[in-house]
Order: sequence, then C-alpha cells, then structure tokens
Amino acid sequence: MEKSKIWLSSPHMGDAEFKYVKEAFDTNWIAPVGPHIQQFELALSSITEYRAVAALSSGTAALHLSLILLGVKHGDEVICSSFTFIASANPILYQGATPIFVDSESDTWNMCPSMLRECVKDRLSKGKKPKAVVLVHLYGVPAKMKEIISICQEFDIPLIEDAAEGLGALYNGQPLGSFGNFGVFSFNGNKIITTSGGGALVSNDEKVIQQAKFLATQARDDAPHYQHSFLGYNYRLSNVSAAIGLGQLEVLDSRVEKRRANFNFYKKALDEYKNVLFLEEQKGSYSNRWLTTVLLEGIDKEILRQALEKDKIESRPLWKPMHMQPIFNQAPMYGGSVCEQLFEKGLCLPSGSNLSDDERDRVLNQIIKVLEK
Ligand SMILES: *Cc1c(COP(=O)(O)O)cnc(C)c1O
Repeated sequence: MEKSKIWLSSPHMGDAEFKYVKEAFDTNWIAPVGPHIQQFELALSSITEYRAVAALSSGTAALHLSLILLGVKHGDEVICSSFTFIASANPILYQGATPIFVDSESDTWNMCPSMLRECVKDRLSKGKKPKAVVLVHLYGVPAKMKEIISICQEFDIPLIEDAAEGLGALYNGQPLGSFGNFGVFSFNGNKIITTSGGGALVSNDEKVIQQAKFLATQARDDAPHYQHSFLGYNYRLSNVSAAIGLGQLEVLDSRVEKRRANFNFYKKALDEYKNVLFLEEQKGSYSNRWLTTVLLEGIDKEILRQALEKDKIESRPLWKPMHMQPIFNQAPMYGGSVCEQLFEKGLCLPSGSNLSDDERDRVLNQIIKVLEK
C-alpha cells in the first residue's frame, strides 16, 4: 500500500467550523463584514485578558498596522528578534524603517534580554532611540516577559508581541499576546488553529484598535461618498474565515493539549539518545508546543531530514535567522552565535494536532533508524 504523507503541521478542523460557515452562507455574509467577525473578535478577546481585538487578513497585516499605529516611519529603527520567520521583520521594511536584530538566548531560543539591553544602549549612544521592539514567542515557547518588559519600560520603548506561533501558551498564567502594547496572532493554515488565512491585532487600548480597523478598511472617512484623508490598506478578515475561526477557538485547548502530547511522546521515546536535545519548559511557562523541535549533536540535520522525506515525512530546519538572510545583509545585529547554532543543528518534527498514533510511530521509527546507523 502507498504510504500517506505526514505533514509538519496541517489544518485540523473540529465539529463546529462547518456549521458556522454554513450559517455565513445561509445568511449570505460572504464578505469582509458580517456577524461572525464580531463573534470571532469577542471570542478571541475572552482568551486574551479581554483585550480589544481587530480581526485581520493575516498576522503580517497585524504587525504592519502595529508599526503604523506606533508612528514608525522612514528612517526609524525597530528592534526585532533575529531568530524568527521573515513576517516578523518585513513590515519594518514596509515602513521604510531599519530592523535592528537581536540574538536568542539558549534556554528559550527567544530574544536574549541582556543582549536587548546592550542593543538599546548602543543605539541610544549612536543618537537614535528605537521606535519599538518586535518580540517573537517562537514555536509557542514564551519569551522571558518579566525581563523584556522591564527593559522596555526602563527605556520607554513600546513592545509588540509577535505571538503568531504562541496562541494558547501562557507565561506565569497569563496568555501570550496580552503583555505588550500590541499582541499579534496568525491563523495561517500551518498555525495552531487556522482560518485558512488570517490574523489579529490586540491591545488594551480600544481606541487604537478602532484606528487599526479604520486603516484596514482603506482608511475610509465617515461620509456617504468615498472620502480618504489617510493612507489605508485592505487588511480585513473575511466573514467566512471568521466563521472557521469561531469553530477553531472552541477546540484551541484540546489542540494545545495534543501538541504538548506530541512533544512529550518524542521526548520520552528519544530519551536514551543523548545527542537529541529538546527545549525544556521554563518555570512559570506553558508552551503550546506548536512545533516540536530538536537539536542534533554530532548528526547532520540534513541527513535526518532527507531520510524522513524519503519516507514521505515532512520535517524542516529551524528558521534561518534574519541577520543571515540576503535581504537583511545591511541590518545591524547584536550577538548572533546562539541563533546561528540553533539553525545549524535544529529540526522541526511533524507536530500536527491531527497526527495519529501510527503516524507518530512511523516518524519515530525513521528517526531511530537514522540515529542507530
Ligand atoms: C506565521 C507567522 C507570522 C505571520 O503570519 P501570517 O498570518 O502568515 O501573515 C508572523 N510571525 C511569525 C513568527 C509567524 O510564525
């Protein structure tokens, strides 16, 4: 029998999504306006400490709007985690600003607080105050919020939490995305829950979120004719997508539990292989384990990746740091050796919440085959 493909992280629908989508069809709200958008925003608000929410077309759009709302302009500097997906950094370029990248720390893989402090001090000494910090919670692992927030407060720099991979994860019991001036989520197809494509911007400031919605709707002024006084964007979420999202939020907790179970399965099963390292959870942190990642000591990650691929199993190297990307070769970087090593040694394993036990066993057996060689 032909073996089925095992994906890294594929969409996983629950029981209610189709019911909500059918409602949208039955009521003909097939548009970027409609009742499911409001319901989705309310539901998301209730799991992010009741912050104000703007549902948007992508996480990238949410990041872009957060920079605009913080007044980031041409020539400004914005600090960003180097170890991330490029969507964290691209919006800085959209605004004509310069990304200033900061290295990871080895115990969370997220932005290193002491390197951040060094970076801020150095930028200030060069005569420029960074306009914002884009902090990423990579792979659903919480960054060290206490330390990062205290630095942002000390130097009075706004904090944007890129929690695109972090929905459902907690830091000292508080949801990721609810700490910074802004929190950003993504509902792309590979994320912990999906709307097939979508995102959200959250903030404590209801007025600022109203402004985000205004900018996302081509900045249309309040007039019967079409009048525009500001540069706007078409960044709204479709009502059909929001209907999917409503169903997905109902199963978020069980998705997190399943992804955490995947992590525990791999970790336990590979415990005896001391050259395979897992990222431990910090005290007070509750990761959603969006993707299970491993660091390989003394084994070429590419050999394992290719062996898995031969068996129709998708795995993927960790994110290639931004300061190593050709497009950012001019950008200042603080530190770098930590995330360079992670990229060198790390692999993401199939982590979907819809992986069957048989599929997980298939992945495990292939990994062990390579390790025993
Ligand atoms: C997915 C992702 C984004 C962007 O989200 P989209 O909805 O795909 O635009 C931003 N940052 C990180 C860290 C991501 O993983």
